[in-house]
Amino acid sequence: MESQGTPEEEHRLLSGLELRRLIVEQIYKGLSEAEIAKVEFEGPEIAIYVRNPQWMLDGEEKVKELAKVLRKRIVVRTDPKARKSKEYTLKYILQNVPRDIAISPDDIQFDEVLGEVRVLTDKPGKLIGKGKAFRNQVLAETGWRLEVLRKPLIRSRTLESINELYLRAADDRRKALREIGERVYRDMVIGPKYVRIVGLGGFGEVGRSCILIDTAESKILLDVGFAQSGFGPDAYPHFDAPELRLDELDAVVISHAHMDHVGLAPLLYKYGYRGSIYMTPATRDIATLMLNDFINLYIKEGKEPPFTQKDLITMLNHTITVNYDVVTDLSPDAKLTFSDAGHILGSALVHIHIGQGLYNILYSGDLKYYSIRDDKSLRLQAPANTEFHRVETLILESTYGGTETPSREEAEAQLLQLINKVHQRGGKVMIPVMAVGRAQDMMVLLNKAMQEKRIPEMPIYIDGLIYEVTAIYTAYPELLSKNIRDQILSEGINPFIGSQMVFVNDQSKRDEAIYSQGPAIIVSTSGMMVGGPILEYFKALAEDQRNALVFVSYQASGTLGRRILEGEREVAMEDDGKLRQIKVNLEVQRIEGFSGHASRSELLAFLRRLTPKPRTVVLNHGEPSQLMSLATTIKSRWDRLGFESSPEVIVPENLESIRVHPRSSKLHGLLLYS
Ligand SMILES: [Zn+2]
Ligand SMILES: [Zn+2]
Repeated sequence: MESQGTPEEEHRLLSGLELRRLIVEQIYKGLSEAEIAKVEFEGPEIAIYVRNPQWMLDGEEKVKELAKVLRKRIVVRTDPKARKSKEYTLKYILQNVPRDIAISPDDIQFDEVLGEVRVLTDKPGKLIGKGKAFRNQVLAETGWRLEVLRKPLIRSRTLESINELYLRAADDRRKALREIGERVYRDMVIGPKYVRIVGLGGFGEVGRSCILIDTAESKILLDVGFAQSGFGPDAYPHFDAPELRLDELDAVVISHAHMDHVGLAPLLYKYGYRGSIYMTPATRDIATLMLNDFINLYIKEGKEPPFTQKDLITMLNHTITVNYDVVTDLSPDAKLTFSDAGHILGSALVHIHIGQGLYNILYSGDLKYYSIRDDKSLRLQAPANTEFHRVETLILESTYGGTETPSREEAEAQLLQLINKVHQRGGKVMIPVMAVGRAQDMMVLLNKAMQEKRIPEMPIYIDGLIYEVTAIYTAYPELLSKNIRDQILSEGINPFIGSQMVFVNDQSKRDEAIYSQGPAIIVSTSGMMVGGPILEYFKALAEDQRNALVFVSYQASGTLGRRILEGEREVAMEDDGKLRQIKVNLEVQRIEGFSGHASRSELLAFLRRLTPKPRTVVLNHGEPSQLMSLATTIKSRWDRLGFESSPEVIVPENLESIRVHPRSSKLHGLLLYS
C-alpha cells in the first residue's frame, strides 16, 4: 500500500465517517478477489463479509497483512447468503467427523452473528486435523466457520446458558456491536488533551474497585466493584462523582470476576449505559455465574437486588471478550491490551495506551507474582506478566503491601498438619473460601494430599457455587499453570475432583456434613463469612472445641471473618428467626501463604521484574497501613528495585484525581497549548 507514515497518522485529521470510508476503501482495494458483500464495524472489530468461502482459506495471509497495515482487528465472515442451512451443516459435520471421535447433535451450536459453528469435543486437536483439514473442509462445503472447543471435564450450566442467550439474542447483540463500532470509530473531536485518573472506589480500602480514566476525548471505566463489607452507599463506587456521566462513557473494562471488581457492572446498564464492556472470556463466564448468584441471594432474603436478570442480560449483549495480548481499540484515542495477572482464572493486567504513543497506564487489578524457579507447589495460576512495551503510570494493588506471608509450600504444609491434628481429635475442619480461586486451590491440594496419604481419608464437603465455578475452570485448561494444565491435557486427569469429595446441593447433604460422626473437611462460601452456607456450618460447629475454622484468604475489615480472626469469641447470629449468641469455642487459625494476592515481597519482586519501569506508581486496593508501608518502601528502595530515578508514588483517596504528564515536552506542550 502506498502511504507515507502509518495509516493512523494519516487518519488523525479525518472525521470518523471519513476514517471508516477510507478503511472500507482500503479493504475493497486490498482484497478485491474476496467477493466482499459488506464491511461492518462491529464493536472494536472490522468484520468483512465475503460471498466466497473458499477465499477465506486462500486469503488468510492477505487479511493478516492488511490488519497490520491498518492496525485494526479484522475478522472475515461468510455472508449469511453464502452459508448452507443449519440442518444441512449439522448433518454434514456429523457424517464427516473423523471416525474415532464421537459427537452428538448436542455438541454442535451455531452462532449466526459470527457465522460460526461450534463443536465441543474432548479431542479438539484430532478433530481439527493436521493442517486444519476438517475446519477447511467444513468452511468450503457449508460456508460456516468451524470453531472446535474443548468439552469441559465438568459440564457447565453457565457456559450453556450464555451460549443459549447469545443464540436467542442474536439480533440484539448484532445491533449492540454495531452501535459500539460506530462509537469506537467516531470522530476524534478534540483528541487527548490531558490524562486524568480518578479513583471512584477501592482507594485506601479493599472493595468496590472503580477507576475513571479521562482524556477529554474519552472516558474509560476500569472495574465496577461492590464492597461486600460495606453498607448502603458505602458498598457502591462513587457513581455520583461529577466526572462520571454515563452518556459520555466510551468503555468499561473489567480486570477479573471477583465481586469487588465486577459486582455492580450490570447496574450501569440499569442506569441506561449502552456502551461496551470488555473482559476476558473466562472472566465473562465466571462473572455471569457470580452476578446471577448475587441477584438470587437478594431475592432469597426477600430484598430487592441492585439490578435484575434483565440488566445482566443487557450487559452480556454488550460484552466484548478479549484474550490476553490482543490489542483492541476502545475509542479514537485509547487501546486496550490484557495480559495474565496470575490472580484467578481469566484475571488480567489492564494496559491502556492513549494517543499515538502519548501515554500508557497499567492497572494491575488483583495480582499474584512469584518465582516459578523451584516452585513445587500445586498452584493453579502462572505468575503475572511483567513485560510491556511502555508503561508510564502503574496502578498497583497493595492488599499485602505491608505484610509478609509464608511461602506457598509452608502454607500447604501448615494446612495439612492442622487437618491431621483435628482429625486425630475427631473434629471437623471448616475452610471458608470465595467460590473462585481459593476454592479450586483447596480442592486440588486436598485431593492430592489425600491420594498421597499426607492426610487421612475423610469426606470433603464442597458447598456453595464452587462446583459450577470449577466446571468453568475445566473449560479453560490453557489458562492454568503448566503443572495443572499438563494433568488435564496430557494425562486426562481431573485434578479438581477426588473420590472423597461430596458436592452439597441440598439440605440433607448439608445436615450430613454437620451431624455425621467423625472427622470431615468442609470447604464452603462465602470466603469472608458475610453470607452463604458457611454460616450454617459455623452456627452448628462453632461451640465444639474439637472443630477448627481455618482462614486461607483475605478478610476485609468489618466482616464476620475478620471479627472472629481478631478475637471475637461470642457472636450474635440469627438462627431460625431468633437472635442467638454463638460461643466461638473451636480452634481459629489463619494460614496466609495461599492468598491469590502478591505478598509484600512478591509485590516488590513484581516491581523489580517489571519492564519498562513506570515513572508514577499509584497504590490502591489496600488498607491505609498496607498502602503507606509499600509506598515508603518503594520510595526508599527504588534503586534496588531497578528504577533509574525515584518514581513518584501516590496513595490517593477515593474521589481524588491524579493528572499524569507525557514525557515528551513536545507532546506535553502540544497538550498544554492546543
Ligand atoms: Zn480479586
Ligand atoms: Zn480485589
